[in-house]
Amino acid sequence: MDMIETDKTQERLDFFTELVHEHLPNWSFKVNSRLQTTLALTKYSSRTIEINKELICNGNFEIVWNIVLHEIAHGLVGFHHSHTNSAFINHCKALNTSPAPYIKGALPDDLMWKHLYKCMRCGTQYRRNRLSRGLKQGYVRCRICRGSLEKIK
Ligand SMILES: [Zn+2]
Ligand SMILES: [Zn+2]
Repeated sequence: MDMIETDKTQERLDFFTELVHEHLPNWSFKVNSRLQTTLALTKYSSRTIEINKELICNGNFEIVWNIVLHEIAHGLVGFHHSHTNSAFINHCKALNTSPAPYIKGALPDDLMWKHLYKCMRCGTQYRRNRLSRGLKQGYVRCRICRGSLEKIK
């Protein structure tokens, strides 16, 4: 499968719904806006994979992909298998994803954020996945000291 990078939430939803159906034909894929620290959930009783709203809207596409594959592996092995279970680990390997649970905040910043700006005066960093028009055109200034921002990633 080719890597299709998109920033549009609906396109992302369609893409990942299709990915889920490819491996788990009777399952559904839903956005859960109440999830805070949990990035994704596999609900075996309702055969649903739920995704954190902030993650699907703003998260790095590749990370979202890895997380959805991780949840698909959960769905494939069933609820009685833990993260250290060999059947689960093998499913993750086959899907080319990590068997370790993904925790919000535990992901490296450079993977979570596509763009990184730094204030040239006070050093404050600004992390973004989507750029506002102001950032694109370079007229946004540091919120703290009004210094100019430099794109470092
Ligand atoms: Zn897991
Ligand atoms: Zn500053």
